[in-house]
Amino acid sequence: MYKSIPRLGLAAIAALGVIAAPPPAEAQEAKRAIVKVAGDLYRFQNNFHYSVFLVTPEGVIATDPINAGAAKWLKAEIAKRFKVPVKYVIYSHDHRDHIAGGEVFADTATFVAHENAKATIIGEKRPTAVPDVTFAERMDIELGGKRVELTYVGPSHSDNSIVMRFPAERALFAVDIVTVNRLPIPDSWSRQIVVGKKFGLEDPDGKYLWDSFQSRYGNFGSGLSDNFQDSLSPSESDRYGKPQLVPPRLGQGSFRLVVMDAYQRRCAVTGEKTLPALEAAHIRPFAEGGKHEIRNGIFLRRDVHRLFDLGYVTITPSQRFEVSRRIKEEFENGRDYYALHGREVAVPRAKNKQPAAELLDWHNNERFKNGFEI
Ligand SMILES: [Zn+2]
Repeated sequence: MYKSIPRLGLAAIAALGVIAAPPPAEAQEAKRAIVKVAGDLYRFQNNFHYSVFLVTPEGVIATDPINAGAAKWLKAEIAKRFKVPVKYVIYSHDHRDHIAGGEVFADTATFVAHENAKATIIGEKRPTAVPDVTFAERMDIELGGKRVELTYVGPSHSDNSIVMRFPAERALFAVDIVTVNRLPIPDSWSRQIVVGKKFGLEDPDGKYLWDSFQSRYGNFGSGLSDNFQDSLSPSESDRYGKPQLVPPRLGQGSFRLVVMDAYQRRCAVTGEKTLPALEAAHIRPFAEGGKHEIRNGIFLRRDVHRLFDLGYVTITPSQRFEVSRRIKEEFENGRDYYALHGREVAVPRAKNKQPAAELLDWHNNERFKNGFEI
């Protein structure tokens, strides 16, 4: 059901002479569907990802291919149902969980993306077709008497996110631009900032962020103590919404204890048992929608935790540890970490305490190798 495991670390691994782990057993069938949106515009679903395509007498204008397996399925369905080739593939932004597998359409399609996306696709070696046509602000594509309007919306979820408007169908396709409950990005935030920029409350953007935070989390004062975390009991549906009765969830403090216990006081990756060097990591950070829940937790040695948070390493849904080649590229080092690449991670035996596959999937796609993004 999950996308294929990122194999990004392999080049560096080979160079270091470490044998990479074999690919995991084939995951179960993906949930795929095609649903009509309006007129000749259709929505394509692959598990948690969606794209759209417009059918015209001269061919199809497709958007994010999602991944190679999804793209092959979509290509076959389009051929079967509409009997026209895919003439264009438009990438919403450069992230691999949306645009992998473009090469599947390379026999008939022209690939279109924002100009910044092209650089990243090449630089990050995204496993997809490199865009043939790029644009900076606006571009229209016409085919078979139909039209899609592409607009760059400025730095947002990425520095190359575009929205696609289908005027005849009165539909807009926007991907990842709005992430529910994520904090807004202040104007002074530069794309060059890596991590760790701080804002003071005295500067306007700091105040803006804090106000946004409070409007989401409620007015809890300035201290983010364990009590604060414990008092925050978000429900599935209304995480920061109105107060309501929900089952209590773990606070930050109890989260650490529960995770430590479930992992028998050992780092899941290295097996390290020296407790002061071990931490309960969130797979998906709390600030980005993750919860203080055992299935969002993993017990890690501090350095591994740090690299995990920064996206230099990840754990796949099949519970294998993977190391980004970025460690080697950026620090000319990392031998100790590469030696762990492909290793099976030691998780609790009880299934209901193991890391949730969809959270690991999120980390693979949104965090791994993406330590430079917000
Ligand atoms: Zn994205």
